[in-house]
Amino acid sequence: MNMVEETVLEIDLQALEHNYHYLRSKINKDTLFLGVVKAFAYGSDSVAIAKKLEALGANYLAVAYTYEGVVLRDAGIKLPILVLHPQRVQYTTLIERCLEPSLYSPTMLTSFLQTAKALKQSNYPVHLKLNTGLNRIGFSENEVDFIADQLKGAQQIKVTSILSHLAASEDLSEKAFTLSQIATFERISKTLTSKLDYQPLKHILNTSGIINYPEAQYNMVRSGIGLYGYGNEASEDAKLIPVATLKTIVSQIHHIGPNESVGYNRGFISNSPMVTATLPIGHADGIGRVYGNHKGHVWINEQLAPIIGNVCMDMLMIDITEIDCKEGDEVIVFGKNHSADKMASYSNSISYELLTGISQRIRRVYLDN
Ligand SMILES: *Cc1c(COP(=O)(O)O)cnc(C)c1O
Repeated sequence: MNMVEETVLEIDLQALEHNYHYLRSKINKDTLFLGVVKAFAYGSDSVAIAKKLEALGANYLAVAYTYEGVVLRDAGIKLPILVLHPQRVQYTTLIERCLEPSLYSPTMLTSFLQTAKALKQSNYPVHLKLNTGLNRIGFSENEVDFIADQLKGAQQIKVTSILSHLAASEDLSEKAFTLSQIATFERISKTLTSKLDYQPLKHILNTSGIINYPEAQYNMVRSGIGLYGYGNEASEDAKLIPVATLKTIVSQIHHIGPNESVGYNRGFISNSPMVTATLPIGHADGIGRVYGNHKGHVWINEQLAPIIGNVCMDMLMIDITEIDCKEGDEVIVFGKNHSADKMASYSNSISYELLTGISQRIRRVYLDN
């Protein structure tokens, strides 16, 4: 047990290593592995995670926005970086920093080609995103001829990969839909590559795709949440280790009588004598007001304690009447022992949202060999 003296997000790089090897063991040896490090590597620290993934032998990284890739380049990351959702205004920056755009619409393809010409590029790596049913971003099937037309004789860019994204890979009741997405991907990418004189990589699987549809791994897989220790189902969670553990500390304990109120707007009223603890973490840190009033619980001395009253900006209060603890004791908000999935479920949310919402003001500390 590493005791803490303030609120910290503990990042266990050994856990990342374990998860990486576990996910790799699910795919063929020659399938490439792309680590998704968008949104501060799911709220942890994109630079620390990217460096570790680079050392572990990952083949590719992905971020959502261009600036996230710039941060990685500034930190000296050399792996190819796919930018999943770039905008036109960022094209020059993308090229200057060797970031590879996912081009998802005719407008994006035409305008990127223009920029690549203006900047005298040759064979600049780009990726083509196909919409196979998520209906978020991506080319539709009837745009394949347009793509082929644009690419004809366009030496400035080269299609490194063709990708798509699954809408419900974690939900086996949607298996028929997922299989139809995979079939659509197969069909569109075949038509597209028949019009090129080279073979781009293909990829469609995210973490739950790796677990549930390994037969569709093609040349590469893209994993985010699994690397961070969550598998979207209990049996997979059991084989993964949470990378981020959000820890805080008991700042002060109060013994209050019946009919006393706790917190802003007197959100909680006691009906008997009780003991409360105040923690230095609040909605500005990513633990939203939705967790207040007995929805959320935190883990303290091997027990769950409910959050009482309204969550403040920088503090929250918990009921420790039945829990043996003292000022200075460690509290786990989520992570090992109390998963982010479980914590998120108290607010009808998912691990992804809770993890990525953890504020940058919380100090990151690292565990590694
Ligand atoms: C975020 C994202 C992923 C990673 O998904 P996980 O479920 O976290 O593994 C993969 N591909 C795309 C296009 C994404 O946006």
